[in-house]
Amino acid sequence: MITKIDHLGIAVNNLEESVEYYEKALGLHCHGREEVASQKVKTAFFEAGDVHIELLEPTSDDSPIAKFLEKNGEGIHHIAFAVDDIAGQLKQASAAGVRLIHEVPFDGAANKLVAFLHPKSTHGVLTEFCMPKK
Ligand code: ZN
Repeated sequence: MITKIDHLGIAVNNLEESVEYYEKALGLHCHGREEVASQKVKTAFFEAGDVHIELLEPTSDDSPIAKFLEKNGEGIHHIAFAVDDIAGQLKQASAAGVRLIHEVPFDGAANKLVAFLHPKSTHGVLTEFCMPKK
């Protein structure tokens, strides 16, 4: 079951400059930074009420975020739903004909298991499911 929107992922060219915008212009507090090796990104997290903002800067040219920036420039990259059963949620999406980018969840930021649905089968929105690791 989807329990809430966990975060919005935003692709940026420069994490430091973007963090400054969110802190100074919006007054949000950066409460975590992390490098996620599996996705070749550096991340910074902000809290906006119950929803997090996840800034993503690629650490390598072959990072999925580098490819996104090349194609689209900076902007909203994905929406992430918190789920209580990530395997079951993937199974449900797959049974409904959705193309999965990851059949098997992997380690994402903030000590969570994550998996993505392909935007070609989600009406244009790269969709992430995330669940805290037990
Ligand atoms: Zn995410």
